[in-house]
Amino acid sequence: MSKPKRQEQEDASPEISEVAKDILRMQLPIQIPGLGHVNMYALVDRNGAAVIDPGLPGQSTWDAIVDRLKQAGLEPRHIHTVFITHSHPDHFGGAVRIHKESGAKIIAHRAFHFGGPSNRKRHGPVADHGHAHTHAHGHGGGDHHVEASVDDLVAHMDLLERDRRNAENPVRRIASALRRITTPAPWKGPADRAKLRESLRWLGFATFGRSRFLPTVTHHVEHGDVLKLAGREWFVQHTPGHTADHICLHDPETGAFLSGDHVLPSITPHIGGVSYLADPLKSFFYSLDRVGEIRGVELALPAHGHPFRDLAARAQSIKQHHHERLDEIVEIAKDVGRADVNTFMKRLFRERSWGDMAESETYAHLEHLRLEGRAEASRNEQGRLVYEI
Ligand SMILES: [Zn+2]
Ligand SMILES: [Zn+2]
Repeated sequence: MSKPKRQEQEDASPEISEVAKDILRMQLPIQIPGLGHVNMYALVDRNGAAVIDPGLPGQSTWDAIVDRLKQAGLEPRHIHTVFITHSHPDHFGGAVRIHKESGAKIIAHRAFHFGGPSNRKRHGPVADHGHAHTHAHGHGGGDHHVEASVDDLVAHMDLLERDRRNAENPVRRIASALRRITTPAPWKGPADRAKLRESLRWLGFATFGRSRFLPTVTHHVEHGDVLKLAGREWFVQHTPGHTADHICLHDPETGAFLSGDHVLPSITPHIGGVSYLADPLKSFFYSLDRVGEIRGVELALPAHGHPFRDLAARAQSIKQHHHERLDEIVEIAKDVGRADVNTFMKRLFRERSWGDMAESETYAHLEHLRLEGRAEASRNEQGRLVYEI
């Protein structure tokens, strides 16, 4: 007996549908836990089409793109613009090939960057692994007054710029990949290093595989920029949280809103703790509130799942979900006392979800509590972060 699938998990339907004026929903197959398809939207105009989020890299995506476009009487060479909502591979994977075929513009947020921040300068209570037992308190910490807004990101552009420069230089790219491999995630101790196989795969990708599927952004945009797509004007909304570089698009004329992974219809997007944002969860709350305030949104078009109506209500219910998770963590703490991220994660998630992603999300929540002054962090004998609430 299998449980009914959530809409985000449904297999990619080969059929295309016009979901709003001159906007076609084209589902591309993806194989990612919890997700069965990604929506590529084609915004058609007199000169051809712009596509939003053209799926994962690889041949099966490409075949699906060609097939879906054909149903609309289009070919890859007709795509003049690729718009990428954020730096996850299921959203930008097809961009390199499209650019090669048609010379399309590639548009993304100016902070677009694939891969998390380099370990050394990561945020976190006790970022330097050399100093076990150092106490960091929620109160008075340097990060405590950081505003979770677009300013938050601006404050971290230096770090981002440096990582981006490193990624462009092959020697630095290898050095930073090696650093990533040898440094465990910020909440882990020195003994919790990634397995060698995983490390080597990442090293191979970070050094040689990158340019094959990571697109070069030709046009960087930021909050408030206006783009002409499907013959009308769209406003760029910067929505940091799920990633620091996440953007949505709003069309005031028809009330369409391309929500990417920021607001999904029936699942809550992953909020990881390793980010350019000091407090990704706080940024996410901020961005959910901003999106909920936009007037005249008639139809949200998410990157996964079906179009839906009430964007503001959905944004609030996602926020509510995370507040409940925070309360749950406070309850768990009463039980487990001073505990590491893995311990909280195992209580917070069902066993089938256990792993690095769940740990990262747990870490984001614990850090949020710490930065709000509701939790304290220190390192235990194994060098792991432990939280006390
Ligand atoms: Zn994503
Ligand atoms: Zn996604």
